[in-house]
Amino acid sequence: MMNFTYARATDVADAVRQIAADSSAKFIAGGTNLIDLMKEDVERPTRLIDISRLPLRTVEETQDGGVRIGALVPNSDLAWHPLIEQRYPIVSSAILAGASQQLRNMASTGGNLLQRTRCYYFYDTATPCNKREPGSGCSAIDGFNRMHAILGTSDSCIATHPSDMCVALAALDAKVLVSGPSGERVIPFTDFHRLPGDEPQRDTNLEPNEIITAIELPAKGFSTNYTYLKIRDRLSYAFALVSVAAALEFDGNRIKDARLALGGVAHKPWRDTAVEASLRGQTATQEVFMRAADVLLRNARGFDHNAFKINLARRTIVRAFAQAALGTPQSQTDKTIR
Ligand SMILES: Cc1cc2nc3c(=O)[nH]c(=O)nc-3n(C[C@H](O)[C@H](O)[C@H](O)COP(=O)(O)OP(=O)(O)OC[C@H]3O[C@@H](n4cnc5c(N)ncnc54)[C@H](O)[C@@H]3O)c2cc1C
Ligand code: SF4
Repeated sequence: MMNFTYARATDVADAVRQIAADSSAKFIAGGTNLIDLMKEDVERPTRLIDISRLPLRTVEETQDGGVRIGALVPNSDLAWHPLIEQRYPIVSSAILAGASQQLRNMASTGGNLLQRTRCYYFYDTATPCNKREPGSGCSAIDGFNRMHAILGTSDSCIATHPSDMCVALAALDAKVLVSGPSGERVIPFTDFHRLPGDEPQRDTNLEPNEIITAIELPAKGFSTNYTYLKIRDRLSYAFALVSVAAALEFDGNRIKDARLALGGVAHKPWRDTAVEASLRGQTATQEVFMRAADVLLRNARGFDHNAFKINLARRTIVRAFAQAALGTPQSQTDKTIR
């Protein structure tokens, strides 16, 4: 790890001022991703700006019936917060499916959004990687790509976005509140993360001098019929091969509204609003969910080692919707296989 200087930000404006003054500086919140990347020589900031003591740790109701979550709320506190557990249990469930208790205690809401891909080649500085070093090539396309993306890939990068929480936030239509040198702005969650295109080094549409201050959830939380279903190589402490956030709202026995977001399959949480729209007015049957999964995956493309994900995603979508329809979400703390 190279030498770096360390400074604490006193407030949000000071944090923005400090980051704008040094193009190689980085914010540090929980440090659970950034410090790993610095140890591996993937990230090389010359200055760390510690934002962990900024007053961004509250979870509060908004005037329109939603909830605002401060960017520094630890993942554990968020998962067990009464407002989130009761009104947005899909968010609790997704957070508890990720990492370990110790990591969730340290990890922050904002940092979770900005954690970087777990592509092994990205972490291995001895190999070419367009995300780490633009123009150097992608080792995963013809390499070991078992964990990699099947949707929205490009010839430059086939990495997946690793967060669980972000899949639930995408399904719920969350918003990201940010602050920068030219003031504050709001980014719809589905526009926050990017597809790789020919600029895989850019994971998000956050500008380099901006800080995430909060996440806002709309009033509608789908708290009755939801599931976050994560399929991984072992039952805990592993990133998703495929994950699905599925939520339904019923009018009698007809689907009134549906939400579907996938993790582990693309460079960003994957949402297809046309597929969601096609579910409205239907009854909740296996056939209807299979058809929706097939349409969502119509352009999926597998590589040498990850083609299995296409069928896995199809089956995970159907099972997640079936669980959501029954109102029996997957428990993230009871690890029994059923
Ligand atoms: C072994 C291991 C297993 C894991 N498993 C999972 C898993 O299964 N699922 C999952 O979802 N996650 C998993 N994680 C990732 C973990 O959730 C993230 O590391 C964590 O959420 C990052 O939050 P942080 O506060 O520690 O971020 P940091 O490491 O402090 O920061 C990450 C990045 O975000 C930037 N940043 C942080 N906060 C802000 C802000 N407010 N505004 C602007 N920039 C900011 C930093 O500059 C840095 O670039 C795992 C991590 C580890 C180490
Ligand atoms: S998939 Fe993306 S992150 Fe992985 S090696 Fe290729 S360019 Fe790098």
